[in-house]
Amino acid sequence: MTKPAFRFDNSYVRALGGTCLATPPDPAPAPRMVIYNHALAARLGVTLTEAEAARQLSGAALPDGAEPVAQAYAGHQFGGFSPQLGDGRAHLLGECIAPDGSRHDIALKGSGRTPFSRGGDGKAALGPMLREYLMGEAMHALGIPTTRALAVVATGETILRDGPLPGAVLTRIAASHIRVGTFQFFSARNDTETLRALTGYTIARHYPACADAESPALALFDAVTAAQARLIAQWMGVGFIHGVMNTDNMALSGETIDYGPCAFMDAYAPGTVFSSIDHGGRYAYANQPLILGWNLARLAEALLPLFDPDADRAVDLANARLGTIAGRYRAEWLAVMRGKLALDGTAAAAADDAALCDDLLAAMEGQGADWTLTYRRLADATLTGQDGAVLPLFTDPAAMRDWLPRWRARLGPDAPARLRAANPAVIPRNHQVEAALAAATAGDMAPFLALLRAVTAPYTEQPAYLLPAPAGFGRHVTYCGT
Ligand code: AMP
Ligand code: MG
Repeated sequence: MTKPAFRFDNSYVRALGGTCLATPPDPAPAPRMVIYNHALAARLGVTLTEAEAARQLSGAALPDGAEPVAQAYAGHQFGGFSPQLGDGRAHLLGECIAPDGSRHDIALKGSGRTPFSRGGDGKAALGPMLREYLMGEAMHALGIPTTRALAVVATGETILRDGPLPGAVLTRIAASHIRVGTFQFFSARNDTETLRALTGYTIARHYPACADAESPALALFDAVTAAQARLIAQWMGVGFIHGVMNTDNMALSGETIDYGPCAFMDAYAPGTVFSSIDHGGRYAYANQPLILGWNLARLAEALLPLFDPDADRAVDLANARLGTIAGRYRAEWLAVMRGKLALDGTAAAAADDAALCDDLLAAMEGQGADWTLTYRRLADATLTGQDGAVLPLFTDPAAMRDWLPRWRARLGPDAPARLRAANPAVIPRNHQVEAALAAATAGDMAPFLALLRAVTAPYTEQPAYLLPAPAGFGRHVTYCGT
């Protein structure tokens, strides 16, 4: 008997089987491994050759122990509620237990229609799946909690979008796929029984300490608030714009999930939006902390019956917490910014840090200053003592010239090394991502592999990957649901 490739233990289906629908992935007609994440496979204890993986991670064969299901969820999309979304092109194969004992969802994306597909074809194109692979690995290398891709397999099918495109299946590894929208699905149906089971399950899986709280549901809400506030603060630190922060794309685990129209900001501009469908700028860079609060309010609404059986008291308990989210986020953001600016931890000096951080943003705004390069050049400026390293990034550096001495006065002796360790040199630059995906779609993986190598060593200066798009690149536009 051969050893199973994954050590499956499918607790979600066991505990909450009524919330998902058993449905097999479509078998890929001619699976071909495009990229296999050997490092992640080793961490998960997965024992598959690439050829086996191509079949088992594309629906052509099912790994032993897999129990494929489509999960139900609802969600607010751009503020409007859809009571039924669910996995329309994804199959949860199950949960794998890694050698270190950690539990991970193994899910296919682009693996065919499910009962939740509505009008969609259930498929995904190679370019967007490689984009998710790249972005997840970049975020992971930046130390930001994220789902990751184990593989992208070309299916051998041609799918239709604006034109014909190669089809592909991505294997997504997640702490879980429990979303704010999962809670909303059962709340919208007044199914308090399932809501309670889902809450208990989520606590046991992600926040076991909450089980001992006087109100486990309130404790869960607080734990998710803390995790999400920290996550969004980290996004803001690296200039990441998720692009579609719908409640179905917010994971209870606190991981970044669903890389669709996301991109990294180049020049600092709070209103930056890349997504082609975000006309109102709802998910613009600077709105992300507000949407954090908005989405958590939707989670609180869903949990109300578990906060307190008395509806008025439940609302009071929720409101008391919602009123603290902005402050919690701000504290997380300040912690991120203190790290980025190598501000030391003394309490006396720290009182001014908030103003120092806010004033840096004010000095950068409207000046074309690249978000990523500015912080790297601050490291150079501390080494040389010359402001010339950073001022040329600004069209009008007057405010920055005033800011620099205030900042220098707050720095400790090891500032250059701390700055270099806290601020990436390499992020997935929009023009390079687009070029790599276009080449990959045409059959040439070399630019993608080189870019992947670069973004997974983000603190190493690599001249070919340092600069933002040249002026002629134009406004970058990203697309959803492709
Ligand atoms: P997303 O924009 O990827 O977060 O997806 C939003 C919803 O649309 C989810 O319920 C997806 O399962 C569904 N969806 C996206 N693309 C497709 C597709 N090609 N076929 C079926 N459902 C899809
Ligand atoms: Mg989604």
